[in-house]
Amino acid sequence: MTQYLLVIDEGTTSTRAMLFSPEGHPVASAQHGLTQHYPAPGWVEHDAGEIWDWTLAAVREVVAKAGGADHIAAIGITNQRETMVAWDRETGEPLGNAIVWQDRRTSDRCAELKDAGHEPSIQSKTGLLLDPYFSASKMEWMLKNRPEVRDAGNRLAFGTIDSWLVWKLTGGAAHTTDASNASRTMLMALDGESWDEELCGLFAIDSATLPTIVDCTGEIGRTDPALFGCAIPICGSAGDQQAATIGQGCLAEGETKATFGTGAFILTNSADRPLHSANRLLTTVLCQQAGKRSYALEGSVFVAGSLFQWLRDSIGLIISAPESELLARSVPDNGGVYMVPALTGLGAPHWRADARALVCGMSFATSKAHIVRAALEAQSYQAHDLMEAFEADGVRWAKLRIDGGMAANNWLAQDLADMLGLPVERPALVETTALGAAMLAAVGSGIYPDLQAAAEAMRGEVTHFEPVMSTDERERRLAGWKDALAKV
Ligand code: ADP
Repeated sequence: MTQYLLVIDEGTTSTRAMLFSPEGHPVASAQHGLTQHYPAPGWVEHDAGEIWDWTLAAVREVVAKAGGADHIAAIGITNQRETMVAWDRETGEPLGNAIVWQDRRTSDRCAELKDAGHEPSIQSKTGLLLDPYFSASKMEWMLKNRPEVRDAGNRLAFGTIDSWLVWKLTGGAAHTTDASNASRTMLMALDGESWDEELCGLFAIDSATLPTIVDCTGEIGRTDPALFGCAIPICGSAGDQQAATIGQGCLAEGETKATFGTGAFILTNSADRPLHSANRLLTTVLCQQAGKRSYALEGSVFVAGSLFQWLRDSIGLIISAPESELLARSVPDNGGVYMVPALTGLGAPHWRADARALVCGMSFATSKAHIVRAALEAQSYQAHDLMEAFEADGVRWAKLRIDGGMAANNWLAQDLADMLGLPVERPALVETTALGAAMLAAVGSGIYPDLQAAAEAMRGEVTHFEPVMSTDERERRLAGWKDALAKV
C-alpha cells in the first residue's frame, strides 16, 4: 500500500493540503483562499475558525484522493509565521481574530520599548528586532484590549498557526509549537529550551498560556480519529521560510535560498551557530531535532512579486506578471531608468518604514518596457544589498537557490546571477515550502534517517543560471541603483 506524506501549508492568503510520495513527487492538492480582514489602517486579521475549517476541508479532500487516512504515513505542517491566535481551551473557540504578521497596530508600543532601551538585549537573546512583525506585542495587545482574552484565566491558550492547527487536529490533546515557529515570537531565547520568563514578564504574558516547544521532526501528536477515519501521526513542523530552506536542501553551513513571492526572504544556514547580526538581519532557529538546534540568518524584503501585481492592477502597465519577462527582453538595457520599490517602506538591511517608492532617470526615450525592466532589476539590486549585509556579518554566499512565484521568470533568474556574480539554481518543483514540510514529516516518521537522506531522495532536478555580465556593466548598474536609493 502506498504511504503518502500529507502537508498542510497554511499561508497568508490561502490554506493548502498537498500529498507527496515518499520520493517527493506531488500527487494531489487542495487549496482554499482565506478572507483578509482589515479592521483599521495597518491592521490585518484572520479568522482562526475559518483557517481551521479550510484546513479540515483541504485535508479531507486530499485524504480522499489518497484512498483514505490509512494511506497517509505522516502529516507535516508549515505555516505563515508570527501570526498569533488566542483560544479557549474548554470550548476550542478562538477568542477574537488572529493578528497577522503584517499587522502594524503595535508600532507605537514597539517604539516605546525601543526608546526604553530594550532592543539590544532582545536582539541578543532572540535574534529579532523590536518590530510589530513578531508575536509578543500582538499577544500583549490582545491581553490589554480584548476582555475575553484577559478574563479567560487558565482557559486561555496562545499559539502561532502551527500550534492552533496541532491543537485542533489532535482534538485538544497537544498544545505545542516547534522551535522554528517559537523563535519568531520574541519570547524564546535562541538557545533557550523553554520560554524566557524575563521576556514573558516584559510583555506581561503568563508562560502557562503558551505551548510546549517541541522538535521540528518526530511525533508531535496524532489526529483525532473522528476527523479523518483513523488517527494520523503529525511528524514534522516548521515556519514557512525555514521549511523552504530545508526544501531547497540548504542543510549545510553557508547554503542559501531566496524565496521570491509577495515579498522576498533570503535565509542562510549557519549550522549550530546563532550568528548575531550587526547589519539588522534576523537570527532564527532553522530546525530542531532531538533537542539540537540549527540556525539561519535571515533578510526580508517587503516588496517583490507584489510590485508586479501593483503594476498590473493599479498602474495597468502589464497585463500579467509573466509579461514582465517579455518586456524586459524587448529592450537592450534599462535606458537609465531605476525603480526603488519602497511601496511599504524598505525592509532589510535598511528597515526604513517611512521610505516611499520612486522611479527616476526617465526621458522621452523611456518606454513602459524600460520601467518594467527597472522593476525586475530592482529585485536583483535588493538581493545584492542583502548579500552585502550578509557579507558584513561574515557570511558569504557561494550560490543562491531560488523559489517562489517570481522564480519562474527566467530573465530575473539570469539577472540575479549577473548582479550577484553567483550561480543561481532553481528547482523544477518550486513548491519548496511544502516539500520542506514533507521532508520533515518523512524524517519524523522514520521514512528517512535524516534530512540529508530525505533531500537526496526527495529533491528533483534543478536549472542553473551562471553569471555572464562584465564587471564594468555590473558596477555601472549598481552605481545607478545606489544613486536612486539615495534619493529615497
Ligand atoms: P506568495 O506565496 O507570497 O503568495 P507566490 O510565491 O505564489 O507568492 O508568488 C506570487 C507572486 O509572484 C505574485 O506577486 C506575482 O506578481 C509574482 N509573479 C508570478 N509570476 C511572475 C513572473 N513570471 N514574473 C514576475 N513576477 C511573477
